[in-house]
Amino acid sequence: MILQDKVALVTGGTSGIGRATAIAYAQQQAKVVVVGRRIDEGEKTVRLIKEAGGEAIFVQADVTKETDVKAMVNKTVDVFGWLDIAFNNAGMGGENPSLIEQTEAEYDRTMNVNVKGVWLSMKSEIAQMLKQGSGSIVNMASVVGVVALPNILLYTASKHAVVGLTKAAALQYAKAGIRINVVAPGAIQTDMFEAVTDEAKAYLTGLHPIGRVGTPIEVANAVLFLSSDLASFTTGETLMVDGGYVAQ
Ligand code: NAP
Repeated sequence: MILQDKVALVTGGTSGIGRATAIAYAQQQAKVVVVGRRIDEGEKTVRLIKEAGGEAIFVQADVTKETDVKAMVNKTVDVFGWLDIAFNNAGMGGENPSLIEQTEAEYDRTMNVNVKGVWLSMKSEIAQMLKQGSGSIVNMASVVGVVALPNILLYTASKHAVVGLTKAAALQYAKAGIRINVVAPGAIQTDMFEAVTDEAKAYLTGLHPIGRVGTPIEVANAVLFLSSDLASFTTGETLMVDGGYVAQ
C-alpha cells in the first residue's frame, strides 16, 4: 500500500479520470476527499470507495471560485487533520473550432476552469502543505499541453498554461518539501471523449501509435506514482500517458 495513512484530495472526482483516481487512491489506503459540483455523482464516488472498504467524503466546490476552493481544503483539514496529496483534475473542453467565431464567454469559461481552477487549487493546497512542510500535487494537463491540435485551440492554450504553472510552482516550492508534477494524457475513454462526434473519435484514436485510446485507470496509475513517495525525486515533470502520441 503506497498511500497508507495519506490524505488525498481529487478535484473533478465526480466522474471519469477523477473518479478512477479517487478509487485508486483509496485502494492504496489513502483517505480521499472527492470534489466537484455534482452532488449525486460525488456521493456515488464516495459510495464506491466505502463499498470497497475505503474512507472518503464529498465536498461540493466549483474550482473557479476562491471561497469554494479554500473551503474544500479547510474541510479536508477539519475532517482528516492535514492534506498530503492533491490531484487538480477538474477541467472541461467544448469550444467552437473556429477562432474567429469564438466568443469571449467561451474563452473565459475554458480559462477559468482549466487554468484559474488549477491556480486557485494550488494556492490553497500549498498554503496548507507549507504548514506541514510536505505535500505532493499532480495537475491535469493533456497531450495538447505539449503539442497542439488546431480545432481545440482554447483547450490547447489552457493545457499549455497548466504545464507552465506546474513547472514554475514546482521550482518555487522545491525546497519546501512540496513536489508538483503534471500528467498529460492522450484521448481517454470518459464522458468528455464520448461527447465528440464519431468522426472525431476515429481521428483521435488514429493519433495514438498504440492503436487505441486510453482508459481512466491507466491515467490513475500514473497519477498514483507521481502522488506517492515512489516519485520522491520527481518534481516539475510532465508525464505523458498518451500511447506514444508525442513520441512520433
Ligand atoms: P469528465 O468525466 O467530464 O470529468 C470532468 C470533471 O471536471 C468532472 O468531475 C467535473 O465535475 C469537473 N469539473 C468541471 N468543471 C468544474 C468546476 N468548475 N468545478 C469543479 N469541478 C469541475 O472528463 P475527464 O475526461 O475525466 O476529464 C478530467 C480531466 O482530464 C480534465 O481536466 C480534462 O481536460 C483532462 N483530460 C481528459 C482527456 C480525455 O480524453 N478524456 C484527455 C486529456 C486530459 P462536476 O461536473 O461535478 O463539477
